[in-house]
Amino acid sequence: MSDYDSIVILTGAGISAESGIDTFRGKDGIWSKIDIEDVGTPDAFRRNPEMVHDFHNQFRRSLQTHEPNDAHRALARLERGHPGSVLVVTQNVDDLHERAGSENLIHMHGELYKARCEACGGIRHWTDDLGLETACGDCEAAGRMRPHVTWFYEMPMGMEEIQSALGRCDLFISIGTSGNVYPAAGFVADVRRGGRAHTVELNLEPSEGTSLFAEYVHGPATEVVPAYVDELLG
Ligand code: NAD
Repeated sequence: MSDYDSIVILTGAGISAESGIDTFRGKDGIWSKIDIEDVGTPDAFRRNPEMVHDFHNQFRRSLQTHEPNDAHRALARLERGHPGSVLVVTQNVDDLHERAGSENLIHMHGELYKARCEACGGIRHWTDDLGLETACGDCEAAGRMRPHVTWFYEMPMGMEEIQSALGRCDLFISIGTSGNVYPAAGFVADVRRGGRAHTVELNLEPSEGTSLFAEYVHGPATEVVPAYVDELLG
């Protein structure tokens, strides 16, 4: 059993790739098929809300066809079995971590299964399509509901709690993320500035930031994550 007190794990699209959800930047990634500026920014939503809703509606519908994989399950097992604290900070908008059993979890880029009213700020669990005719269940304003996700140029969620956990942790693990999207890509540097945490990258291939990690294991998440968790749990 490892003697780490506090473990923070950052996950990205790569952990859900073997569940069948496309990553953003890979060869067949979502951004190779569609322009981010058309569907993933606040400006796109102002210009063409139908198109932005359509993209997110399709993504939300597709989630029902995907199941958590062994990497998601291994992280839930780590949370249950580790005597210290384990926090998963995910950039993913899918719900595969919670379906695998992770409980101490922050969705820094929001959740596709939530919708937010831009008029009153109310947030609701949401599994249906959103559209211009959708009315808010709280303030009844129509046409102001949007996916509760962080678009490019918006501030991620839970940053205060995340920064405080990064400052306390003695093990930081980054899984399935390309190291392109800030602030998440900067977490390893933040942790290293603290000077006391061990840092590990688990990714299919070296990411942009691999050299910043003290240790790395490259391979598919469903293989390298369960093996690393087994090591931690002894
Ligand atoms: P990214 O697409 O930029 O990078 C994915 C990373 O995962 C790459 O480094 C790739 O090498 C790695 N990878 C691919 N397959 C893997 C596997 N089987 N095992 C381990 N690693 C694998 O994704 P990102 O860095 O997370 O940033 C893009 C943004 O888009 C994030 O906010 C991300 O979460 C979001 N996004 C979310 C989903 C989702 O919710 N499932 C899907 C696509 C994108």
